[in-house]
Amino acid sequence: MRTIGLIGGMSWESSAEYYRLINQQVRDRLGPLRSAQLLMYSVDFGPVEQAQHAGRWDDAAAILVDAARGLEAGGAECVVLCTNTMHKVAGQIQAAITVPFLHIADPTGQAAVDAGALKVGLLGTAFTMEQDFLKDRLSAMGLTVLVPEAEQRNAVHRIIYDELCVGVISETSRKVYQQVIESLTQRGAQAIILGCTEIGMLIKPEHSALPLLDTTELHAQAAVAFALGD
Ligand code: GLU
Repeated sequence: MRTIGLIGGMSWESSAEYYRLINQQVRDRLGPLRSAQLLMYSVDFGPVEQAQHAGRWDDAAAILVDAARGLEAGGAECVVLCTNTMHKVAGQIQAAITVPFLHIADPTGQAAVDAGALKVGLLGTAFTMEQDFLKDRLSAMGLTVLVPEAEQRNAVHRIIYDELCVGVISETSRKVYQQVIESLTQRGAQAIILGCTEIGMLIKPEHSALPLLDTTELHAQAAVAFALGD
């Protein structure tokens, strides 16, 4: 089994999900007492989040580049960045290491293509919904990416930082997300990308009429596929 390197802490709520999902999948495939060989470098989210909102992306990148180098030095054979938003600096991280960087958009886009859902709605932080770093990679795979309109984007963003990243799951916020999904459905979305690694804690398949593509699940699957040499 190859050793997985996770950069976590953004937030640790979703890093815990990655840890659980990766180990469950290894157990299901290899046997009840089998578990993943992995390292996690969990950063302090505070300085990263401050850098994001101040537009100091190079400062945030420096923290993650350090983490990625530490993982490689510790024996990680791949690096998995457990957040969509910080894929904005994926290029800088990949350039700093010699092991593969498993980009979150690749298994996500592939799942949409496999499902025949070429028009997808994207939920995530404002950075992910409004900037091109994730959307461009999905478009290059043949997908048309719809994002919510401005007021809904603000609500989706606020709920991620104020609630989901601090472990708060609220029925009111779930209804807000369901309304956003409904608007995207009316605009022709055939599936919804949960493009923030905490959204799966709030929105489960039973909360959506459209199929959900959960980046946390799909990215964890990609990590396991790498580790087991699929
Ligand atoms: N985990 C989130 C994401 O997937 C948001 C927190 C962050 O900004 O890193 O984008």
